[in-house]
Amino acid sequence: MTESPHPLLPPTTPVLRLDAGVLQVGGADGGTGLRVSPAGPAVAALLRRLDGRRSQRALRGDATADGLPGQVVDDLLAGLRAAGLVHDLAATDLLATDPGPAAGARAAAELPAAVPGREDGGRWRARRQSAVVVEGANRVGTPLAAVLAASGVGRVHVRDRGTTAAGDAIVGGASAADEGRPRSLAAADAVRRASPLTDLRPLPPDTAPDLVVLTRPWAAVDPLSAAWQRAGTPHLVATVRQQTGVVGPFVLPGVSSCLHCAEAWRRDDDPSWPRLAAQLAAVDADPGGSTITCLFTALTAAVQVLAHLDGSGQPATVDATLEVGPPGHLPRLRRWPPHPSCGCVRQVQGGGDRDRGHWAGD
Ligand SMILES: [Zn+2]
Repeated sequence: MTESPHPLLPPTTPVLRLDAGVLQVGGADGGTGLRVSPAGPAVAALLRRLDGRRSQRALRGDATADGLPGQVVDDLLAGLRAAGLVHDLAATDLLATDPGPAAGARAAAELPAAVPGREDGGRWRARRQSAVVVEGANRVGTPLAAVLAASGVGRVHVRDRGTTAAGDAIVGGASAADEGRPRSLAAADAVRRASPLTDLRPLPPDTAPDLVVLTRPWAAVDPLSAAWQRAGTPHLVATVRQQTGVVGPFVLPGVSSCLHCAEAWRRDDDPSWPRLAAQLAAVDADPGGSTITCLFTALTAAVQVLAHLDGSGQPATVDATLEVGPPGHLPRLRRWPPHPSCGCVRQVQGGGDRDRGHWAGD
């Protein structure tokens, strides 16, 4: 923990009075709550000041001026942290938000979901300093880019050389009015609508993004994906094939299975797969799929991207895919471990025991 953390009690946390001396913080609708007693006006004032902008040292000073002992402040904060109600921001998190009241209001809505779980803070800053490239301004890629930007990713660049077709329009992405415009411009406008200050510029030629998202249906046979693998740049597939949204594998080059591993497993299952795949890849197809499937896919991908950028844990789609589709859109996890013939991971273990899929939550 930093020397003086900046505790944040998300403003949506209910603070309810049970009687004159007892406050309940959180705990509505089955969540963990904390009852604070005695809880006079000084305690209520302290709770209101937990906005992530004041250090614990400053909070102690204000509370002492209100007549509350410093030890009471420390104990109350410890209780709120133990209940998962308060999250600590680092000073660098506070500096990482765009200036201005509107940007501040947007960040206030995003921060509580971004910061839990890392005691020293810094997750928000990591997200703000990240650069993501989305390959494909289509019905998955553009809403995904908008979601990432709105979630605080500092730089989001969408690459596409095509022209917007009527079928590209989707909630959160290209609009009906974008038909005929360059897709890259339509995508940039969609991202700006979601987050006006996000940096949309392409990265300098000598700079690698933190992550690339490949949104065309058969990225594994795309030479572009091989280039990212060689460069050591993490990349993630997020696409819709027929009516199924596919998110993953999340490739950490040299560490996890790659897109060719998944192809090799498919070839093991069906020796004619390479011939079929070549025909699938030869068509310059973009994701079809219903609005719900495309947005489910984009959101599922966004969760994977943010887990990686924030450092909040290994994305679920490392060595795996999550698949969603109608009618229920319940995610299905399929395992794609490193293939023994690929050699992309230095020490490939196992190989013949691939789990051919199970429902998440089994
Ligand atoms: Zn591989």
